[in-house]
This record gives sequence, structure tokens and C-alpha cells, in this order.
Amino acid sequence: MKIVFATNNKNKIKEIQSMLPPSIEIISLESIGCNEEIPETSDTIEGNAIMKANYVTQKYGYDCFADDTGLEVDALNGEPGVYSARYAGEQKSAEDNMDKLLLNLKGKTNRAAQFKTVITLNLKGQQHLFTGIARGEITLEKSGDHGFGYDPIFKPEGHQETFAQLSLEAKNIISHRGKATRALITFLND
Ligand code: IMP
Repeated sequence: MKIVFATNNKNKIKEIQSMLPPSIEIISLESIGCNEEIPETSDTIEGNAIMKANYVTQKYGYDCFADDTGLEVDALNGEPGVYSARYAGEQKSAEDNMDKLLLNLKGKTNRAAQFKTVITLNLKGQQHLFTGIARGEITLEKSGDHGFGYDPIFKPEGHQETFAQLSLEAKNIISHRGKATRALITFLND
């Protein structure tokens, strides 16, 4: 069985393939000839994951899964959410995004936030959604140099370190993406 993972990140594909039996082959967008940018114009994280998976299934006829992630801050009514990548502008700069978020939270005592990943799987004519959530809080300043995006200012619940101070293995165990991915893997393995 071949399933497209709507990404061109070879590491992501390798990682997921290693958790599945060889009878399930995970293939990239490139390998099906999909080189265009897939539209992500929904105003929700779920909507974007669905949009990406449906684009591949409808245009190329493959079973497919796609993921989308955002950081939702309680005191900002869920912002930046679906706009996390370009919160501070189209340059998609992680530094600028973090600076903007720290500024918008200046003086606020409620710093609770969560990362949310949604994976949409289109398989044999049916659609399945898997969600992973990591609760935590936005720190007062940046710490750590692992990871990417908002990792230096996100301290997961029950930890004294930010995501950027944890190893990739430690982050994967508790992260939004780790949880959603494990739910997908369990489903596919069954
Ligand atoms: P994507 O949907 O995986 O491309 O994520 C959208 C944006 O959310 C990224 O550009 C990052 O700004 C942010 N983001 C997603 N996952 C993480 C994470 O694990 N740590 C920090 N930031 C993340």
C-alpha cells in the first residue's frame, strides 16, 4: 500500500516509514510529480490539514496524509494559531515571530498556551483526523537553541526547560506532533 505524506521533507518521511511495516510505503510529493505549492488558505489548523490532504487525493488520486500545526495562546484568544508561521510577516522569521509574541504578552499574567497538530488521513475513501496537543506556557524570554519556531519561548507543562532546551527525543515524547504522529501510526499499524 502506498500513502503520500504531503511533504518534501525526506527526514520526516524516513522517520514515519521507520515506524511502519514495509507493506505500507510512505512516498513524498516529489515522487508523485507534485511540485507546486499546495494551497493552505483555511482559517483553522484542521482546515489546512484537510485542504492539503484533499488536494493530493483529488488531483493525484493517492491516499494521503497531511499535517498542520499552530501555537494557540489563551490570553490572545488562540492567536497566532493557524498564522503561526507568518505571525510577524511573510518573511516567516522565527525570531520576529517570537519577538512579536513576547511583546503582545508583555504585562500579562496569563501566559498559558498550547501547540496543536492535526493530521488528516485520506485512506480508501474515508477521512480520519488525529490531533496532538502539548499544553504549556510562554516564557518571559528565549532560552535554548534546539528545535525551531517558537521552541525557545515554550515551556511544556511539568518541565522547567523550554522545548529548545530539550533533546529532540525528549521533545518528541511530549510534543503535539509526536502525539498526533503516534495516533496515526497506531491507526495504520492496526
Ligand atoms: P507547520 O504547520 O508544521 O508548518 O507549522 C507552522 C508553524 O508553527 C511553524 O512555522 C512554526 O512557527 C510553528 N511550529 C510548528 N511546530 C512547532 C514546534 O514543534 N515548535 C515550535 N514551533 C512550531
